[in-house]
Amino acid sequence: MAQPQPTFVIVGASLAGAKAAEALRGHGFDGRIVLLGDEQERPYERPPLSKGFLQGKQEREKIFVHPPEWYADQRVDLRLGSTVGAIDRDRRVVTVSGGDRAGGEEIGYDKLLLTTGASPRRLPVPGADLDDVLYLRGVGDSERIRQVFQTASRVVFVGGGWIGLEVAAAAREAGVDATVLEADELPLLRVLGPRIASVFADLHREHGVDLRLGAQVTEIVNDGGRATGVRLADGTRIDGDAVVVGIGVTPNTRLAAEAGLEVDNGIVVDASLRTSDPDIYAAGDVANAFHPLLGRHIRVEHWANALNQPQAAARSMLGEPVAYDRVPYFFTDQYDLGMEYAGYTEPGRNDDVVVRGDLARREFIAFWLADGRVLAGMNVNIWDVVEQIQGLIHSGVQVDRDRLADPDVPLDQLTAG
Ligand code: NAP
Repeated sequence: MAQPQPTFVIVGASLAGAKAAEALRGHGFDGRIVLLGDEQERPYERPPLSKGFLQGKQEREKIFVHPPEWYADQRVDLRLGSTVGAIDRDRRVVTVSGGDRAGGEEIGYDKLLLTTGASPRRLPVPGADLDDVLYLRGVGDSERIRQVFQTASRVVFVGGGWIGLEVAAAAREAGVDATVLEADELPLLRVLGPRIASVFADLHREHGVDLRLGAQVTEIVNDGGRATGVRLADGTRIDGDAVVVGIGVTPNTRLAAEAGLEVDNGIVVDASLRTSDPDIYAAGDVANAFHPLLGRHIRVEHWANALNQPQAAARSMLGEPVAYDRVPYFFTDQYDLGMEYAGYTEPGRNDDVVVRGDLARREFIAFWLADGRVLAGMNVNIWDVVEQIQGLIHSGVQVDRDRLADPDVPLDQLTAG
């Protein structure tokens, strides 16, 4: 008698969830795949939401991971508007509400993948819940901010991280004045360290952004129910037609925690992306995964991780021995600056930097080192070097700093001893 086909359930219909379904089929899984998402949109990519799509340069249809017919073609049961309320690990079922079935449907799983992502951190000050205090996470948020840019003359940004800077650049390109309020001494300071973070501060100032550093927002100004600016701890009031907040994200771990899985800055998984339950896996923004190269757990909130980690998770769910050891990667585009970053450094420990190229002209590669070894590299307006940078990081060799800084020495020769 034929064995019943196994069911693999994926919770989170975003890039990571869709890529996991694709990888399962790509690796020959013939059973049932159920992909559950609480949004009404099919899986889409997020980088365009703060870049090309926000600027009106990229069509809506181009942001989606797959065309609509792909799901039926691949026999992926995509259920939108479906919120998973609970995981019962003893019975191996998830409880789903919403979608086209009235609340409380149970779906059994043989393997479960959690790609539940992360949610914007809320600003903990009075007025932060006003309707025109905007956050950017979903496609609807991006559309709303784009609309605001059509009528606003000034927008105030709280947070000088990737969201704040990319969206402020889009504002300037739309002809909107922008004030960026960053709590730290420089934008991106904890990620890039002072020398390279200054490049971004200068870039934005040169494009007319009013960048205020060490800014403590204490209140959103509430003018008859409308947000008309912010107030700082020193009493300064900054007016704006809207406020956009980008102060980081928190991983969506509630389901996992309530199910008794190990949670610590995300869902804790091993290098094969398996949780403390052998039938449950996690990938993407929510996964705090052991990284074999770094010898520790890291949680990576960038696009490339949501793109690549599910490949490994899918193979792992199929019983293959897997260790996800890709070097983290992300990119940004702001005005005429394009950059790619590969590697990982501890936040706040980014002082040892070697620069190859010209910082002032914004054409350079920056390398972050510890004990003479390259931990991360960022190429700014220089292209086709990411593989070599990743090779340097993977090699773990101690490099000669002068040769690293010398543009005439090919990067792949630095690993040759
Ligand atoms: P983020 O990159 O973590 O930056 C948040 C920034 O806000 C940090 O500089 C933080 O300073 C600052 N901050 C925190 N609390 C603040 C406050 N009360 N007032 C003023 N500033 C405050 O987070 P994000 O920009 O919100 O982006 C959300 C997620 O999307 C992140 O994971 C990000 O990596 C990702 N993303 C990536 C890209 C890309 O890869 N190009 C683009 C967009 C978004 P401290 O560091 O000192 O806390």
